[in-house]
Amino acid sequence: MREYRQYIGGQWVGPDRLFDDLDPYRGTVVARVPAGTRADAARAVDAAAAAFPEWADLPPAEKQTLFLRAADIVERRTGEITALLAAETGCAGGFAGFQILTATRLLRQAANWGYLPAGEIIRSDIPGTFAMALRRPLGVVAGISPWNGAHVLAWRTVVNPLAFGNTVVLKPSEEAPVSAGLLVAEILDEAGFPPGTVNVVTHAPGEAVPVADEFFDRPEVRCINFTGSSATGRILAERAGRALKRCVLELGGYNPLIVLADADLDYAVEAAAFAAFFHSGQICMNARKVLVERPVYDAFVGRLAARAQTLRAGDPADPGTVIGPLISPAALDRVAREVDEAVAVGAKVLVGGSADGPCYQPTVLTDVPEGARIHSEETFGPVLVAQPVDDADEAVAIANATRYGLSAGLITGDNQRGFALARRIDAGVVHVNDQTIADEPQLPLGGVKDSGWGRSGPHSMADFTELQWITTRDGTGTYPI
Ligand code: ADP
Repeated sequence: MREYRQYIGGQWVGPDRLFDDLDPYRGTVVARVPAGTRADAARAVDAAAAAFPEWADLPPAEKQTLFLRAADIVERRTGEITALLAAETGCAGGFAGFQILTATRLLRQAANWGYLPAGEIIRSDIPGTFAMALRRPLGVVAGISPWNGAHVLAWRTVVNPLAFGNTVVLKPSEEAPVSAGLLVAEILDEAGFPPGTVNVVTHAPGEAVPVADEFFDRPEVRCINFTGSSATGRILAERAGRALKRCVLELGGYNPLIVLADADLDYAVEAAAFAAFFHSGQICMNARKVLVERPVYDAFVGRLAARAQTLRAGDPADPGTVIGPLISPAALDRVAREVDEAVAVGAKVLVGGSADGPCYQPTVLTDVPEGARIHSEETFGPVLVAQPVDDADEAVAIANATRYGLSAGLITGDNQRGFALARRIDAGVVHVNDQTIADEPQLPLGGVKDSGWGRSGPHSMADFTELQWITTRDGTGTYPI
């Protein structure tokens, strides 16, 4: 059994207290991981602050070499990362492959961001004055990452700020401290990133707050970069407001998939099954509700139910498995409770509706009344609500009637009409003739409303840099007093 240490200032260091990192499928211990404290976070912030000036000034070509090397290492370690994601997070092979591919693409693209235009020249009205707005990094960015897309989201948390010249302290989720944290540190260390540019502080379950306290109290930390639930995002945004720090938030969603009557139904069923059940519904972009035009509703839900029954639940390390376990017994209980509550107030179970060992069966619910939580709140399990609509206008109105706005999909035989409808949907991302889950590092993933603030990829330059107005004047001219 491997015992880990934390990565601070380029060193693998204590503390002595460790906790068990559990396999959600078997319940066995995957690794023993440091139960870090506020003092560890303080040392990590010190290291990141000390590394900042040198990293900020490192020429783009040198940064490029490091990012490209890290991508090669991720690729070389694919087998090991896939096995770890299965053991630590219950992630089946399909989603592990997606995470690794997206991470390597992100690293390779970020290798070039040092060459993006670093500002603008803007005309001044004052004679003899040359004015510009220059981009400069913020300083230390504190990253807080989740367990669900553990590996790819950890890379996103680190790479976006790092590529624009910031240094980082990463606090991974206690549910995935290795794949969402310590493994990233190992790879960056092997790639040769200077000590302190990225530091990883892990902590035991329930002990995130003291680590976060250090982030909020330290003036060197200029931004909190968070991916996780909207509930935690709200707490962090309130604290960031009090501390006058920036925060970038990628939060939950209640993502609609709209199927219009002119859609190719076989394609729509495949898209819906993927959107609802990929990674057992534990991705922020999973579809939570499918809105289907009435003439094709019965045919669509019938075929979807049949398709759901073909998805095999079981050991995530088995290549034939589609539905792995939920992340913890508590998560399984929560999903089961929410389905049961919906059924108690009148929802019908078309397929699924119960646990299968540590997994939850792919489930489609119909007739879900407004009073059920699942009607308008994220479940974080393989549960899809199906609802008929009279027309596209009603579908758009229902799609917009939630507090979230992350991702939406819209399936129609008429792309032109789909594009016009997409423009009316309040979401950060809309895919026409596609489903809700996608991530390409060059595209601006992010939400509106309670789904978050900020965008990933090259567009995150706005989030992870400040504009500095600099003028140079030729020393002529007069002042009015
Ligand atoms: P989930 O409920 O799915 O675990 P969270 O949003 O609670 O999602 O967790 C995402 C990340 O936020 C994890 O790294 C977790 O440790 C961290 N976290 C949870 N609560 C807090 C908090 N109050 N302050 C700082 N970090 C937190």
